[in-house]
Amino acid sequence: MSHTTPEAVVDRDVVVIGAGPAGLTAAYTLVKAGKSVTVLEARDRVGGRTWNGHVLDENDNPHFIEIGGQWISPDQTRLSDLVDELGLETYQRYREGKSVYVSPDGSRHTYEGDRLPCSSETEAEMDKLIKLMDDLVLEVGAEAPWAAARAQELDTVPFRDWLSQHSDDQEAIDNVSIYVASGMLTKPSYAFSTLQAVLMAASAGSFSNLVDEDFILDKRVVGGMQSVSLTLAEKIRELGGDIVLSSPVREVTWHEVDPSTADDANNIRADVRNGVRDNGAAGDVTVVADGATVHAKNVVLAVPPNLYNRIQFVPPMPREQHIAHQHISMGLVIKVHAVYETPFWRDKGLSGTSFGGGRLVQEVYDNTNVQAGPDGTPVEDTNGTLVGFISDVYAEKMWALPEAERKEAILSAMADYLGPEAMNPIAFYLSDMAAEEWTRGAYATSYDLGGLHRWGHLQNQPTGPIHYACSDIAAEGYQHVDGAVRIGESVAKSIIEGL
Ligand SMILES: Cc1cc2nc3c(=O)[nH]c(=O)nc-3n(C[C@H](O)[C@H](O)[C@H](O)COP(=O)(O)OP(=O)(O)OC[C@H]3O[C@@H](n4cnc5c(N)ncnc54)[C@H](O)[C@@H]3O)c2cc1C
Repeated sequence: MSHTTPEAVVDRDVVVIGAGPAGLTAAYTLVKAGKSVTVLEARDRVGGRTWNGHVLDENDNPHFIEIGGQWISPDQTRLSDLVDELGLETYQRYREGKSVYVSPDGSRHTYEGDRLPCSSETEAEMDKLIKLMDDLVLEVGAEAPWAAARAQELDTVPFRDWLSQHSDDQEAIDNVSIYVASGMLTKPSYAFSTLQAVLMAASAGSFSNLVDEDFILDKRVVGGMQSVSLTLAEKIRELGGDIVLSSPVREVTWHEVDPSTADDANNIRADVRNGVRDNGAAGDVTVVADGATVHAKNVVLAVPPNLYNRIQFVPPMPREQHIAHQHISMGLVIKVHAVYETPFWRDKGLSGTSFGGGRLVQEVYDNTNVQAGPDGTPVEDTNGTLVGFISDVYAEKMWALPEAERKEAILSAMADYLGPEAMNPIAFYLSDMAAEEWTRGAYATSYDLGGLHRWGHLQNQPTGPIHYACSDIAAEGYQHVDGAVRIGESVAKSIIEGL
């Protein structure tokens, strides 16, 4: 099948592949600077991993849910500024009342503040591990962890092993591991390196910030985080940019080949296997998508790195990119949405915030929505919503179950924290980003063991006229919408300078 539709060929300064927050911020920055831009998006909507959705109750009444990313933390200043610039409002996560902790022996405790109610010995061990991670954050930073003096040493030790080297308190290890493993990278802590864990913490300012849920899960956008992308898309169109939906990019022709790489004896055609000299410079690019072909001087590849190889590059990319991209993979997490007649936990003096290291649902929060009322003033829903997260191996187990058993297991785990009322939601929904063709996991991608120090230095370097922009390769705001905004903007600025 040919993907080319010659009648739709347009000439632009820049073509952006992907209309998530990174691609749209790049496009917005470019059109504001007077550049001509087309954004090509595979899905029939903008927003990527941010997604305002609905779940129906048994009476077919719709209840608002955020299927993807939603929270903003105070350090995420680029996103906060953009939200203000776009005229959107935010609100704080509900946090009145006590939190719940279920310890490894299954006993349930309520507590206040951000310190889990463990034994004093476990608490001291957790403090020690958190302090050690905070020190590593200061040593390594978020900008170029691969260049840190101890990058190789830290990148070849699984995070789980590092925790065990510094503590023999299993409860402390499980709890500290939640903040990075199930809580962020959504991979088991044996599957990624200590350097990768340090990057995650450094990108949020410190490990202590990750531990503080009131910091990391501070506020939400009224109307949902996808509103950022929807509003950006409106502004881009107003400024003359095009956004083409349902238009997956299949092929990018991007560079002259290097004749010296041809090997006639083995019938190998010339390519760019050894790299190109003019990385970042404007070039002559043709991007072919379903229903559209765009000629441009630069490309912004604003898709998660696990999807780079869905696109055919002509010529193929240099060998180091081929290898590097294979060392980055998506995590796996199920975001659980349970809507109740009322926020019943509040009547019991509970905030809804619940933790249990090593349990099926390791975190639960009150996720009751605030939406614009009839006169535009934000109003809280009368129904209460809980959100829970099921990470990595637990998520695999849940998807393997029949639907009714899966629902029963998940709600039982939530009832362990908040009481039997949790068993009876009026609506129930599981975010399934791993099944989404144009994402293939959640929340985001990270390197395999040893991959970050070997290949990380390549992730932000352009390849010829191809520039990479995605929250998954951001420094500050890594894996978050804030990182998408930062990288989208900075890539656009470097292209503007080059043009
Ligand atoms: C369940 C879940 C919860 C999350 N929670 C939070 C949170 O609370 N706070 C937070 O800050 N972040 C959160 N995140 C992460 C956040 O959503 C992402 O960091 C952010 O959306 C990344 O933006 P992006 O533009 O870099 O990538 P994406 O949002 O993934 O956008 C990439 C776009 O590229 C498109 N695309 C892919 N391939 C092609 C192709 N070949 N051609 C054309 N288009 C293509 C995709 O369809 C997509 O629209 C969460 C993510 C998930 C999945």
